[in-house]
Amino acid sequence: MIPRPEPTNADDARFWSALRDGEPQIQRCAACHAYGHPPTPVCARCGEADRQWVASLGTGEVWSFTIIHPPTLPAFADHTPYGAVVVRLDEGVFLVSALVDCPIEDLAVGTRVELAITAVDEELALPLFRRSREPR
Ligand code: ZN
Repeated sequence: MIPRPEPTNADDARFWSALRDGEPQIQRCAACHAYGHPPTPVCARCGEADRQWVASLGTGEVWSFTIIHPPTLPAFADHTPYGAVVVRLDEGVFLVSALVDCPIEDLAVGTRVELAITAVDEELALPLFRRSREPR
């Protein structure tokens, strides 16, 4: 069984519930309007504790990637080799994720991507990505 993220703390519960609802959200500072991810109780830029949740565009680009080969966790062994990507959302925050539609030989920094929210079950949806269909 593939390990699940455990969205159990107050800071990231909203991120995961928004994904489950199909309406991705990220945190933004009420004072300086800086976006932040992962969610935190205070702004990393100015220290403000008033955190807002705003809709994310869900678009961005592959900032970096790596290809995972064995040995790896037993739960992932049957999936190797596979790509893990760092996506920079257009809001400027980063997510570690995977592309659902991209052979590893096609992975490339700068590829435009969009969220492909993928339900695991009724309680968990993952922020995976697919290559963007729209040129920027
Ligand atoms: Zn701030």
